[in-house]
Amino acid sequence: MIKSRILILGAGLSGLSIAWHLNRMGVECRLFEKEGEVGGLCRSRNIRGFCFDYSGHLLHFNNRYAFDLIKSLLGNNLAEHQRSAWIYTYGRYIPYPFQANLYKLPEKIKQECLSGLIRASGGSRKKQKNNFLGWIEENFGQGIARNFLIPYNTKFWTISPQDMTCEWLDGFIPVPSLSQMLAGAVKASKDRFGYNAKFWYPKKGGIASLSNSLASSVKNIYTGCKVTGIDLARKEVKLSGSEKEKFDYLISTIPLPEIPALTGALPGRISDSFSRLRWNSVFNLNLGIDCKADKLKHWVYFPEKKIPFFRVGFFHNFSAYLTPQSKGSLYTEVSYPQGKEINDKMISRAKDALRKTGILNNAKICIQDINRIKYAYPIYDHNYALARSNILQFLRQKNIFSCGRYGSWRYLSMQDVILEARAAAKEVYGCLKKK
Ligand SMILES: Cc1cc2nc3c(=O)[nH]c(=O)nc-3n(C[C@H](O)[C@H](O)[C@H](O)COP(=O)(O)OP(=O)(O)OC[C@H]3O[C@@H](n4cnc5c(N)ncnc54)[C@H](O)[C@@H]3O)c2cc1C
Repeated sequence: MIKSRILILGAGLSGLSIAWHLNRMGVECRLFEKEGEVGGLCRSRNIRGFCFDYSGHLLHFNNRYAFDLIKSLLGNNLAEHQRSAWIYTYGRYIPYPFQANLYKLPEKIKQECLSGLIRASGGSRKKQKNNFLGWIEENFGQGIARNFLIPYNTKFWTISPQDMTCEWLDGFIPVPSLSQMLAGAVKASKDRFGYNAKFWYPKKGGIASLSNSLASSVKNIYTGCKVTGIDLARKEVKLSGSEKEKFDYLISTIPLPEIPALTGALPGRISDSFSRLRWNSVFNLNLGIDCKADKLKHWVYFPEKKIPFFRVGFFHNFSAYLTPQSKGSLYTEVSYPQGKEINDKMISRAKDALRKTGILNNAKICIQDINRIKYAYPIYDHNYALARSNILQFLRQKNIFSCGRYGSWRYLSMQDVILEARAAAKEVYGCLKKK
């Protein structure tokens, strides 16, 4: 076992995965987690027989290593599903993705989308490299932009696509060929589009079973241990209870915007970079109900402003073990800009919208569970890349590896954080061997 003082801050999926990889390389480390349990966002809560995640947490894979690792951790407790995803707009359900299923739209809207598409296809595609609005209009035309991609993305990100770059896109929005989109204006397509056409989910125990399984083979996890300060000069972290721990290498998965409050004064250029980070937050209302409100759909996107949530998903269609028999459960997700508060009035607004859209109908609500996810999605605006790279370089010079979705400040999935964790563990191991 290599002995060096390696501390990991945060025992979410990233912290756990980094420790898991380091332990397998024969490297000892210690993890400090402020909550009373591990998992971070990759946790589940059990309330009277209902198992709720922090809104939907489904596993998507395009990497064999990540799949094999998760399969080895979950074994038979992992089921594969074919996505049933929809968009609710103009009072009807359109199969996802919108751009490949124009046939379902009211005739006038369909014509608008088609003429925009044909006009856009005359220009050179993908010319607008780093403006999200430009990318939308060039790939899909004004009609699809106006009727779905702009309103949905504005609602989801809480800023206009005009103010965003394309750095995060990386396959998140499917771009079918022109002929596939034209065919989809006539009839339902059999093609499966997008990174999430399939997904995997634990049969039992919710998504927490993944974090718990990792944690069971990681040593030295200290829960209920909040990091309250980082002394960059002394290479020391302060913990709640005023204990101090020295480090040679620090791996932090704490959200980047929290760092200045932990370190105290920073060089002007770095604190300016921190002040440029933007993010959105998500208000997540989970409901346990007395029936399986919908027996087919996995999740639905809502682009219209009059409906508060941007997405609803049906837990009971991910696994029969997430609810008591014959009961159902679902989640709603509302985005809001950083710094804004969402009060409990949102609960009744969301429930009203669930009834008006026919999702709840007369279902009786048995349980409600609320999560306010402060750091939900890092926002890729035009300051993002420079601010992030200044900060990460600065931290790295201080022997701090800032990792994870909120530590490396990227739109990372669970698969992505596992892959990033492996790379970070290898890098730390490389540094240790050089010493
Ligand atoms: C609404 C939403 C839906 C998502 N859906 C999916 C999905 O369907 N599929 C998918 O693959 N991914 C999904 N994700 C992404 C997924 O949640 C993340 O990629 C992953 O969980 C990030 O793990 P992490 O460890 O980097 O961060 P976190 O889970 O945030 O972990 C950070 C940990 O650090 C701890 N911490 C913070 N401050 C301190 C401190 N001062 N001291 C000690 N500990 C501290 C926290 O308590 C936490 O446990 C979703 C994310 C959101 C927000």
